[in-house]
Amino acid sequence: MSVVYEKVALIGLGLIASSMYWAMKRDGLAGEVTGYARSAETRDTAREIGLCDRVCDTAVEAVQDADLVVLCVPVGVMGDVAAEIAPHLKPGATVSDVGSVKGAVIEAVAPHLPDGVHFVPSHPMAGTEHSGPRSGFAELYDGKYCLIVPVPGSDRDAVDRLKALWNGMGAFTDELEAEHHDRVCAVTSHAPHLIAYTMVGVADDLRRVTDSEVIKYSAAGFRDFTRIAASDPTMWRDVFLSNKDATLEILGRFTEELFALQRAIRQGDGDHLHDYFTRTRAIRRGIIEAGQDTDAPDFGRSGSKS
Ligand code: NAP
Repeated sequence: MSVVYEKVALIGLGLIASSMYWAMKRDGLAGEVTGYARSAETRDTAREIGLCDRVCDTAVEAVQDADLVVLCVPVGVMGDVAAEIAPHLKPGATVSDVGSVKGAVIEAVAPHLPDGVHFVPSHPMAGTEHSGPRSGFAELYDGKYCLIVPVPGSDRDAVDRLKALWNGMGAFTDELEAEHHDRVCAVTSHAPHLIAYTMVGVADDLRRVTDSEVIKYSAAGFRDFTRIAASDPTMWRDVFLSNKDATLEILGRFTEELFALQRAIRQGDGDHLHDYFTRTRAIRRGIIEAGQDTDAPDFGRSGSKS
């Protein structure tokens, strides 16, 4: 594949940025990639494992001459980082971000960017429960979607070039409007994470009653909640605070459905439960048919039963 950007700067060197670096290198998509993270510890780790062609001690140094700057930091600090780098951006450069929320990030970042710098927000719909510079891998984006969320007046060439980068890293791309993006993600990602956090929290309370049985018999379904609930606390705190309205609306609907199912159980309404579970099973089939998960039993884990 050919080079899409001569010089890329990654600000924040965690799961998402490190996976981008390995994917860009695998596919020969960038000339030089510079990187910066807040702590000296992360920068040292990046140097040790060869993450980025050059690790810089300041964000300002990292963005010098960059054709593309990608903000890969928690959603709550995107605005501060944008303010810091804005005066040092190359005219004609593109600034993107990978934040899980788009409306709040656009509001925080856009006002800082000078004329002549293109802002093209994005959100790769791929991740794991791991974080930090050692957690990334080149295949993270293969076959997954990256949502591109142009802002009003986004330059068409800048949008297409960013799409070419994500396609080169193995991802499919779709364009969405910010408000729609935040609603979709509230359903597909944000509310499910909150529900997982709650379920694991409840089980933790119960553990005090049942000793270690919650851990010992976790394969019965609870284990899959714990994977999601192990996700980075800072990232998810920021996601909920930044996508407040959409998440609260979905949680409101969730609570109503939960009450309806509770009532069905109390009243012995097996038909209601059966119809509901038949509908949800079809959604799982749709995800597999779309190639977004494996059909293997128990997500392909070997030798385990649930
Ligand atoms: P991560 O592994 O926790 O890494 C975050 C990075 O940001 C770290 O290198 C951290 O530096 C750096 N950072 C934090 N505050 C900073 C600041 N004020 N200035 C400069 N650097 C700072 O996080 P991630 O999973 O890669 O997530 C990054 C972004 O991608 C988030 O906005 C998240 O919403 C989005 N996203 C995540 C996923 C996912 O599943 N993880 C999926 C899609 C999108 P230190 O290490 O020095 O603290």
